Amino acid sequence: MTKCTQCDEDVGATPYNPMPEWKIKGPLCSKCYSKNISEHYPGEHVRLNLMDDDEKKKNLR
Ligand SMILES: [Zn+2]
Repeated sequence: MTKCTQCDEDVGATPYNPMPEWKIKGPLCSKCYSKNISEHYPGEHVRLNLMDDDEKKKNLR
């Protein structure tokens, strides 16, 4: 099992790697990845399908 280095939760099937400039260690779960995106790029609308994909996966389970 791969655990998120930020919240210690299982990252699931898709671990996310942090951006080099975040200076944190991966892997990250989709939640923490999104959180870091919004923290590091405030106001910037980074096109992400991560949450959508995550929702889809949840619905499939
Ligand atoms: Zn996490």
